[in-house]
Amino acid sequence: MTEQGPQAAAPEVPRRNWAGNVRYAARAFHRPTSTDELRRLVAGSTRLRAVGSGHSFNRFGDTDGDLVSLAGLPQTVEVDHERGQVTVSGAMRYGDLARQLHTQGYALANLASLPHISVAGAVATATHGSGQTHGNLASAVAGLELVTADGDLLRVDRDTDRFAGMVVGLGALGLVTRVTVDVVPAFELRQYVRLDLDREALDEALGSAYSVSVFTDWRTPRLREVWRKQAADQPPPSADWLGTTAADEPRHPVLGMPPENCTPQLGEPGPWHERLPHFKLGFTPSSGDELQSEYHVPRAAAADALAALDDVAHLIAPVLLVCELRTVAADELWLSPNHRRDSFVVHFTWIEDTAAVLPVVAAVEERLAPFAPRPHWGKVFVTDPAELASRYPHYADFTTLLSDLDPKGTFRTDVLDRYFPR
Ligand SMILES: Cc1cc2nc3c(=O)[nH]c(=O)nc-3n(C[C@H](O)[C@H](O)[C@H](O)COP(=O)(O)OP(=O)(O)OC[C@H]3O[C@@H](n4cnc5c(N)ncnc54)[C@H](O)[C@@H]3O)c2cc1C
Repeated sequence: MTEQGPQAAAPEVPRRNWAGNVRYAARAFHRPTSTDELRRLVAGSTRLRAVGSGHSFNRFGDTDGDLVSLAGLPQTVEVDHERGQVTVSGAMRYGDLARQLHTQGYALANLASLPHISVAGAVATATHGSGQTHGNLASAVAGLELVTADGDLLRVDRDTDRFAGMVVGLGALGLVTRVTVDVVPAFELRQYVRLDLDREALDEALGSAYSVSVFTDWRTPRLREVWRKQAADQPPPSADWLGTTAADEPRHPVLGMPPENCTPQLGEPGPWHERLPHFKLGFTPSSGDELQSEYHVPRAAAADALAALDDVAHLIAPVLLVCELRTVAADELWLSPNHRRDSFVVHFTWIEDTAAVLPVVAAVEERLAPFAPRPHWGKVFVTDPAELASRYPHYADFTTLLSDLDPKGTFRTDVLDRYFPR
């Protein structure tokens, strides 16, 4: 499956998510072309949700009412040079934003593994990249413009009361039409892949460069690959760096998938937006036939969390395509999995077999429970709602925010009701 082209790639409102495990239950699909049209649509609906690029794996955003894509709205990118911020349309893909920013000499501090996702959709679920000093993508958000349940336009920024509760909003507070994000000067990176890391060296490896991802398969205790995205002027890793060897040809994280889908490796310097994501815009990210789960635990618990998972490695390995280990810096956002916690993140790309995967997800969650794992809001998890609530100090505050901004429950979905009962 090859995905091609920029924004025109998705002229229709998707009927199912990217992975195909969720067929949207909406009774009507909409693609308004102006904010006024969108506002009328919202005001006239009793049950409605936005869909971004559909890269989530669960039903948090699946409504039985109206499903709306904002991709038909005018796509704008406005840089505020004085504030060091950019305001973009919520439906814009990170990859398209990155290209435009780069031509103006700017960058985002971090990106996810794929550039295909919409800004509003990614921020709503606290999507993240890797790097011990980098927050998730939502933590860079300085302002939002939303169409609220009554069709009004609401603008909020870091000075607004309860802003920290609104950014990772799970799509449940309103339709995000514009997002303001902090930018930094454009920069260059080199990407090196190193093979066969000893687990003892994991912490050092994860802290060794701008953004580091470690891939493993749970078939041996050793870690298969380290993807180091390092400043272009940082010297390359030495020949025997942390006991690893250098990959001598480009790699794909999923064995058997084409490396051409991935951003350049082997130390070739290039712009931030063509090195931070693992996957290239215009190509299939990851495997395409898959499910994903991901858990954030305190960074200090990394070694213990992996040791706990050793007990279920024999369950994980048969249903796994690849496991990725990353880090994310703490932030203040209420529903961010990184809320006040520097995090170690364990990601699983599973085979596309929900029945086989769900019991393993439950086993993983049970093993990680002592570390109070916070699951990725856009992926597959089975955490008990009360348990999940106990892991977020502002869970009750968010529930209040939900009912204040959406008293009639227009943006509520069955899964949202389960996790945030009215
Ligand atoms: C191959 C692959 C790789 C991935 N890699 C990463 C990764 O590196 N790091 C990571 O953290 N995650 C990763 N993800 C997960 C992905 O980033 C999240 O699921 C993200 O939310 C997807 O963005 P989207 O635009 O597709 O949103 P969707 O899945 O379309 O929507 C997500 C939620 O946002 C809401 N929403 C969408 N648009 C709006 C809007 N305009 N206003 C209000 N609410 C809105 C929806 O209602 C829904 O609740 C990956 C997913 C895939 C498929």
